[in-house]
Amino acid sequence: MKTLNDFNFENKKALIRVDFNVPLNEDFEVTDATRIVSAKPTIIKILEDGGSCILMSHLGRPKGFQDEFSLKHIADKVEDVLGVEVKFVSDCIGEAAETAATNLQPGQILLLENLRYYKEETAGDVVFAEKLSKLGDIYVNDAFGTAHRAHASTTIVAQFFQDKKCFGNLLAQEIESIKKVMEIGEKPVLAVLGGAKVSSKITIIENILDKVDHLIIGGGMTFTFIKAQGGKIGDSICEDDKMSLALEILNQAKAKNVQIHLPVDVIAASSFSNDAETQIVNVAEIPEGWQGLDAGPKSKEIFHNVVAQSKTILWNGPLGVFEMENFANGTIELGNSIAEATKNGAFSLVGGGDSVAAVKQFGFQDKVSYVSTGGGAMLESLEGKTLPGIAAILE
Ligand code: AMP
Repeated sequence: MKTLNDFNFENKKALIRVDFNVPLNEDFEVTDATRIVSAKPTIIKILEDGGSCILMSHLGRPKGFQDEFSLKHIADKVEDVLGVEVKFVSDCIGEAAETAATNLQPGQILLLENLRYYKEETAGDVVFAEKLSKLGDIYVNDAFGTAHRAHASTTIVAQFFQDKKCFGNLLAQEIESIKKVMEIGEKPVLAVLGGAKVSSKITIIENILDKVDHLIIGGGMTFTFIKAQGGKIGDSICEDDKMSLALEILNQAKAKNVQIHLPVDVIAASSFSNDAETQIVNVAEIPEGWQGLDAGPKSKEIFHNVVAQSKTILWNGPLGVFEMENFANGTIELGNSIAEATKNGAFSLVGGGDSVAAVKQFGFQDKVSYVSTGGGAMLESLEGKTLPGIAAILE
């Protein structure tokens, strides 16, 4: 696996795919610069080597050249975060981009215009990718958030660099973290899967049954498993057509010696509302008209004990409807347990879908070992897929 350390960037132009798809407010100001901050180590390392950086990214989903999606809006923020002047060129291919790239001196940074102004980017067009490739000497992919897409700048462009391509620091870290859980994790390995639906997590569950010793299943997924086993779930969220699959998963887990931990009690609510009446009930005895919206006290204790024993922990998905204050406690307490286990030496990785939002909302991002920057890319990695953006560097 080639990383930045395999190259000396002195007098080289690095063409870097970053993920600067950052949120903007109405005044086109960046409201969360996390993604820019995450790319900083890669950019600074190349500049310190004596190289220059050509940054390429998409922003939003423009239909053609729409000014509101221009990367010119974020150039000042990139400059602020990096502490180095950022030149901007209003195209990502063609004469203007090529001239700007040719004139770039060691120590300088050039930001290209939005890649997705060209439909060829998402189409993975080879001719477009070749035009991009003309801009730099070494291709660096540091965008995990788009590594699951076979787009021109994330995947196809790599074929024009043969042995002059590598992972940036961020992408290398993401790959290492996934490996630490899925391949070389110290036992016992635990996965916590929450969230709304079994159907969106099924491929992940099937893949990780071969990797983990314990699996906590929580959140809305719980009820498909409980109903499938004959429990009464009231009005809780349930996918009836996935019940046989749920039973199959339980059987597979038994055969593979994986201990599955489902909630034993829940906070049941009289409606899907923060102001609903609540009661603590056995997970398999939820009255008609009530729905389970968070893990109950006994479940939280069981989950805490499993987390405390684990040396490697993967967390994807909330244990309840964490967006509502009254049903956020199961997710918060799980986060606390994982933070404590991490402090005691466990490796913990959080990522995929909405998990990162929950982790940030409750301030856990600095208390776990690694928070993934990729929603969809992380989910596909956990499903066991080789991401095209990663494969293209390894080829
Ligand atoms: P996912 O994107 O699949 O990780 O699902 C996240 C969503 O699951 C969040 O918006 C939660 O509100 C929702 N969720 C978690 N637990 C429950 C539950 N018991 N009932 C309904 N929705 C839930």
